[in-house]
Amino acid sequence: MSETLHDALIDEIKDLYHAEKQLTKALPKLAKSATNQDLRAALDSHLAETHGQIERLERVFELLDEKPSGKHCAGMAGIIEEGSNVLEEDFEGAVLDACIIASGQRAEHYEIAAYGTCIAWAQALGLTEVAQVLGETLAEEKAADQKLSALAEGDINEAATADDSSDEEDEDEAPAPQPSVSASAKSAKTAKSATTRRRPN
Ligand code: FE
Ligand code: FE
Ligand code: ZN
Repeated sequence: MSETLHDALIDEIKDLYHAEKQLTKALPKLAKSATNQDLRAALDSHLAETHGQIERLERVFELLDEKPSGKHCAGMAGIIEEGSNVLEEDFEGAVLDACIIASGQRAEHYEIAAYGTCIAWAQALGLTEVAQVLGETLAEEKAADQKLSALAEGDINEAATADDSSDEEDEDEAPAPQPSVSASAKSAKTAKSATTRRRPN
């Protein structure tokens, strides 16, 4: 017998359970690396929320008559791996903070997509309480994402551009490349044929 949407929902809940557990390990590393105090506070507060989200998923398992268990979430593992690669680069200050936000928002968007799907499936299956519990977490994920956007657009991105000017000055020393002869010849040819085509018969 083929598996049902109810089975698929349980699989997705197990995936989210593992995704959230991975985040409880990754968020402290991102928070520790953040230089902006507001960013650090936002990551710390989302870590606390994440512990509550794990408890909500345990409640969902209970509602579904399932034992809480995780199923490897390769998506979140990949997002976390990319984030930790960024931490190993030479980024500093506001540029590092901008990169941490980029990584955090990828994680939030993965979660927003996954919770959104699970809520829609739970509603379709008539699992109203499951949908409601998951909805509480979805609201937190969306708020966390918006908080990160507000921090980036508030001043971190702008502060990050301040570090760029010194690098760019070096690049400006190089003379602007001149168009090659063949490129000029080609555009002249194009112009000519365009003229020819415009001529009425
Ligand atoms: Fe979460
Ligand atoms: Fe996943
Ligand atoms: Zn989250």
